[in-house]
Amino acid sequence: MSRIVVLGAGESGAGAAILAKKQGFDVFVSDLSEIKNQYKTMLNDAEIKWEEKQHTENLILNATEVIKSPGIPDKAPLIKKLHAQGTSVISDIEFAGRYTNAKMICITGSNGKTTTTMLTYHILQNAGLNVGLAGNVGNSLALQVANKNFDYYVVELSSFQLDGMTEFKADIAILLNITPDHLDRYDYKFEKYVDSKFRITQNQTSDDAFIYWENDPVIKAELAKRNIQSVVYPFAIERDKKTKAFIENDELIMKTLKTIFTMPVSELALQGIHNTYNSMAAGLAASVLNLKKDSIRQSLQDFQGVEHRLEYVATVKNVRYINDSKATNVNSCWYALQSMKTPTVLILGGTDKGNDYSEIEELVKERVKALIFIGIDNTPLHNFFDGKCNNIIDVQSMGDAVNTAYQLATDGETVLLSPCCASFDLFSNYEDRGRQFKKCVRSL
Ligand code: ADP
Repeated sequence: MSRIVVLGAGESGAGAAILAKKQGFDVFVSDLSEIKNQYKTMLNDAEIKWEEKQHTENLILNATEVIKSPGIPDKAPLIKKLHAQGTSVISDIEFAGRYTNAKMICITGSNGKTTTTMLTYHILQNAGLNVGLAGNVGNSLALQVANKNFDYYVVELSSFQLDGMTEFKADIAILLNITPDHLDRYDYKFEKYVDSKFRITQNQTSDDAFIYWENDPVIKAELAKRNIQSVVYPFAIERDKKTKAFIENDELIMKTLKTIFTMPVSELALQGIHNTYNSMAAGLAASVLNLKKDSIRQSLQDFQGVEHRLEYVATVKNVRYINDSKATNVNSCWYALQSMKTPTVLILGGTDKGNDYSEIEELVKERVKALIFIGIDNTPLHNFFDGKCNNIIDVQSMGDAVNTAYQLATDGETVLLSPCCASFDLFSNYEDRGRQFKKCVRSL
């Protein structure tokens, strides 16, 4: 019997193990950390063998194929050994894709993936399609393939998941943007990260669709080198000959092979330029699927947004508090600042991934009245911003950050948490950071 070994028993790994078992493989799951109880129960119920806090090599190196959690880097010694002996190492999505004929709408990019994925799912679901939500958000694709019978999946794909995909094909691929991120996993070579993102188009044929941001300089340069087989749907604010979604006279216009869709930009639920792009991408996917225009319009209008992404928290003494804790890189903070309409107190900092803050320098000068650095080591922030902003305060807890912001912001201004950095120095994750922010704001 072929042996499948699953490395990493989180949502994706546990789901992949269940599907593999259902398909009749001999399955073994190994996780270097402790496995969460819910996944242990899942594996036990399916009579799948597992181990935690260790990798027993002789139970792993004999695998016919290995399904690796996207969190495990290729540089990990065990993965290097598997590669060296020629064992195929794939992602859970690649594996799940083999056992379903459902249409796949796949979304990647450096920023905006979750927002666009949730919005696309919302549109498809409201239009009455039998659709599942999978990938980085929602449940594991593999688990749903094992237990459900969806006709469509909206799948959020990180570059790490794409790295483990070779035969999988997206029927509709969305590439939102590419800016430097996670370079530590790509030998600090941007080109490798770009290649990884472009895997979203691999195996596509002329029956498939590729939706992308036309004015992204990186995507543009890459497209000049590639021969894309699918039908392309570029989106941009200003139209040119190729553009399929654009803005004209404050109307969002989308043109697909069969229809023309229009809607006032002011009616979009998600505001801000970056969100207009996200709405275009999701709307184009829905139009390619030929969903009813009224239904698409309604969904673009009534979407509730996603927690921790430019999330409005409260207004205290006429100061608005916005939680953008998910802004873990400089580019997403740029978009957050770009959508600020009042003087802003910006809270930023955390685990710096080698950030270049020059991208937000102009906006900070224009719109930010004070910077609050929240992190164990704020040196990189000081190195860049000292002398560029008159009011800089260091704090080491969310309580202090919010209280300081409360002192500094005055009538009509905004306090924005948009950290540019990962959160692991002071918080368990970005959700924890965002929730602490909201809690502190609500108790002001
Ligand atoms: P991802 O899943 O790619 O991390 P999210 O939808 O969670 O993306 O948003 C992450 C951050 O990026 C948020 O701060 C959000 O405001 C910002 N953002 C959302 N969409 C875009 C976009 N199209 N371009 C740039 N930044 C964006």
